[in-house]
Amino acid sequence: MAVAVTTIDAAELVSWFERDGRDLPWRDPAVSAWQILVSEFMLQQTPVARVLPIWLDWVARWPTPSATAAAGPAAVLRAWGKLGYPRRAKRLHECAAVIADEYDDVVPADVETLLTLPGIGSYTARAVACFAYGQWVPVVDTNVRRVVARAVHGQAEAGSPSANRDEAQVAALLPNDATTPTFSAALMELGAVICTARAPQCGRCPLSSCAWRQAGHPAGEPVRKRVQKYAGTDRQVRGKLLDVLRGSTVPVARAQLDLAWLSDTVQRDRALDSLLVDGLIEQTDDGRFALCGEGE
Ligand code: SF4
Repeated sequence: MAVAVTTIDAAELVSWFERDGRDLPWRDPAVSAWQILVSEFMLQQTPVARVLPIWLDWVARWPTPSATAAAGPAAVLRAWGKLGYPRRAKRLHECAAVIADEYDDVVPADVETLLTLPGIGSYTARAVACFAYGQWVPVVDTNVRRVVARAVHGQAEAGSPSANRDEAQVAALLPNDATTPTFSAALMELGAVICTARAPQCGRCPLSSCAWRQAGHPAGEPVRKRVQKYAGTDRQVRGKLLDVLRGSTVPVARAQLDLAWLSDTVQRDRALDSLLVDGLIEQTDDGRFALCGEGE
């Protein structure tokens, strides 16, 4: 059976979000563009609950790009804590330095300039332009793609990402008024808390029209999700090695690092090499190891 394409009632979605959206601190109108950018870096691969305490501490300590840049990469890596994927912290520090030096400590407002900054890809550039500066640009993440696939196209799953197509589909839904940023945040919120991947709560959904619901929730193609395990991976070993260096204010001998992962020495050596290659750690002249910037 062909599923009718529908649209999303912007006023309906926006009023639900204003009433029921989560009260997340980076959504406060008083929060600066830099602080919104920091939240987007952190939220890329880490859930909200883990980001919250780190973000609050971060923006209190380093409220501006120049403050972050001046803190140095090692302090930034320490403050990143257990958010995971620590290359993001290094890129965020590099981004802060460029904004402080080249943009007078002000986050650029246009997508093209944002895209030239370290660590900023298509999603983050559009999220900052939209949420920090109220620009009319589509912001597309996994949650948004899923909501649009279901509510607009009547499909259970979003299918493979295609930046141009996905952005065009979301752009076609954006209201042409001052509610654009709220609409974009609401679309993401709906996918995060109601129209979730595994258990959409259609009974609580604010949308009065949804193509997938109206079609009787037809099943989609089975989706093979890649399960991201952590235990035993190089990511875990890298985290353990970084923990040792985060906990020391002086360079650490190789023997001390070796104690962090004893079960597979080949894997440990590989993880250590990759941290050096990524520039997250460095080696002193006498062969000890330190966080980047602390190996003098
Ligand atoms: S009605 Fe159900 S499937 Fe449709 S957008 Fe709402 S939660 Fe998602």
